[in-house]
Amino acid sequence: MARYMRFPMNSSESGPKTVLIIAGLDPSGGAGILADAAVVGEHGLHAAGVVTALTEQDSTQCYRVTPVDPAVLAAQLDRVLDDLEIGGVKIGMLAGTGTLKVVAAALERLRGTPVVLDPVLRASSGAQLFDGDPERDFDALLGRATVVTPNLEELAALTGCRVSSRKEMTEAARRLRERRGAAVLAKGGHLEGEAVDLLIDESGELSFAAQRIAGPAPHGTGCALSTELACLMALGVPLRDAARQAVDRVRIRIAQARRLGHGRPFLG
Ligand code: PLP
Repeated sequence: MARYMRFPMNSSESGPKTVLIIAGLDPSGGAGILADAAVVGEHGLHAAGVVTALTEQDSTQCYRVTPVDPAVLAAQLDRVLDDLEIGGVKIGMLAGTGTLKVVAAALERLRGTPVVLDPVLRASSGAQLFDGDPERDFDALLGRATVVTPNLEELAALTGCRVSSRKEMTEAARRLRERRGAAVLAKGGHLEGEAVDLLIDESGELSFAAQRIAGPAPHGTGCALSTELACLMALGVPLRDAARQAVDRVRIRIAQARRLGHGRPFLG
C-alpha cells in the first residue's frame, strides 16, 4: 500500500501553521503527545504541545497516571497562547477535572479556532485515563469543541446511553450532538463486522465504512485520528472532507503498523 501523502506547505502560504496539542505523555511514543507531534509533522505543520499528565506506560500497559499540577498547566497554556498563532487544537487525555477546567478556560482565548476533542477515558489496555464524571465534566469542553471523537465506551459515558450496536451508536451520537452543538465523529471500530465511523454535523449524517484490518489493534489510533482532523482543519479543509481524509489516513497507518515493543503494535 502506498505511503500516505505529505501535505506540501509553501513558505509563501499565509495563515497560522501551528497546531496546539493538549494531551498526556506516553513515554513509549505509541500514543499521546509524542505520537500526536509526529502526525503534525507529517502535515508540514508546527506542533506546540502542553502536557496534561505523565503516564508510566509501555506498549503492553499503562501502569500509572500522574496529572500535571493545574497551575503549571495553566501557565504552559498561557505561554503558548501569548506567543503563537494557533491554527487548530487537539485535546486528548486530560486525566482529571482540575486539568479539564484549566483547558476549558484556555479555550476561551481560542474562539474561531477549530478544536478537536478526543474524550479519552481509558486506555485499550484497561487503565483509567480520566478521573471524574465524564457526563458532567466534559460539558465545559463540548460547548467549545468543533468536533468530538468518542469511541463507543466514551460515547456511552458522555451520554449515559447504552451503546452496543450501530443503531445505539447513532442514537447516542445524535444526543451528544444536540447537547452542546459540537459535531460528533463516533468511532465504531469496536463493533462487530465492518468498521463504520459516523459523522454528525449541521449538514446531517455521513458514514465511513471499511473492511476490518486483520491483526491486533495498534496502540494510539484514537490519538492519531483526532490529530489528523485538527491538522487538516488547521489547513482549512472543511470538516466533512477532513473527517474522510483523517479516517483514510489512519486506516493506512493501521495497515502499516509495526511491532516495536513487546505489546501492541504502533501505527506505521
Ligand atoms: N496514553 C495516552 C497518553 C493517551 O493519550 C492515550 C490516548 O488516547 C492512550 C494512552 C490510549 O491509547 P490506547 O487506547 O491506544 O491504548
